[in-house]
Amino acid sequence: MTYDTINTVPSTLSALKAALRERGIFPKKRLGQNFLIDQNILKLIVGTAAICEHDIVLEIGTGAGSLTKLLGERAHEVLGVEIDRGLFDLSQEVLAPYKNIHLINMDVLKSKTAIDPGVEEILKGWLQSNRGLTLKVVSNLPYSISTPAIIAILEGELPVELMVLTLQKEIVDRLAARPGTKEYGVLSIIAQLFAEIHIVRTLPAKVFWPVPQVESAIVVLNVDKEKAHKIVPDYRLFSTIVRAVFQSRRKTLLNSLFMLNLPFINGNKEILSAVFDRLGIKPLLRGEALDLEGFTALTGEISNLIKGKTNG
Ligand code: SAM
Repeated sequence: MTYDTINTVPSTLSALKAALRERGIFPKKRLGQNFLIDQNILKLIVGTAAICEHDIVLEIGTGAGSLTKLLGERAHEVLGVEIDRGLFDLSQEVLAPYKNIHLINMDVLKSKTAIDPGVEEILKGWLQSNRGLTLKVVSNLPYSISTPAIIAILEGELPVELMVLTLQKEIVDRLAARPGTKEYGVLSIIAQLFAEIHIVRTLPAKVFWPVPQVESAIVVLNVDKEKAHKIVPDYRLFSTIVRAVFQSRRKTLLNSLFMLNLPFINGNKEILSAVFDRLGIKPLLRGEALDLEGFTALTGEISNLIKGKTNG
């Protein structure tokens, strides 16, 4: 029996290979096209996200539609975004019976730093016309956009409450990293401000096809944007400070901040040193050793100084 006569979502490796072969599609490494071929893992992902009829789900990278289908069977609506035209056409065809699955063929991160505004608009529209629904992101994220996509979702306006992601282990390690480690960086701090992070389980490379060279893991981010913005009212300043610090990991925190030319400093390092004193931060500390609480406290103090300066 050929794939076309079955014409359903390819749920086994042989069906997937046949579906791609019939359409002349070859998996592209640069787009992170490693398909999840283990049905138990797919079910685990959907179960971990506890998808139900009150959920709206964004899936980035629908591939051949195997995860999308399971999401569509449980969720209120699913929005799937796929950059690859061949895979988009394939998933569009095999997912046609699922009227609550909507697919878009585009680069979800065209602007590099934000989720496509058209995608955001659709999701916001659904949430507005159906009060009481929860927005979740469930995705086997392509490696090339994992970090910017996670940051864009967390920093963006969408009221996402839960993310269940399959990521390369290296990125999961960075999400959960503690201060002073080499994995600790912008991603760790932003993720830990916005979410509680739980690693569900690591995945051997063989649950994907083509088999990647590294391990992956399923990770849950319980997102609370309201709480994050209460902790850090001046998020723009927080993000500027964090990014500046990790742009020059070898510099002391004091020097990184000094180089930022913040409005209230006017070339006067003493002002910054006084802030450090008040917070009990050692002047020679490297930014990479400062924990999340340290960054939020520092942002609060500096924000107050800027406001004082602006108001006075
Ligand atoms: N969901 C499928 C699965 O679990 O088997 C496929 C996951 S595969 C790791 C990642 C998918 O993301 C690929 O289908 C790839 O073409 C797509 N992709 C890569 N970059 C993308 C982008 N910028 N926007 C949307 N989709 C993208």
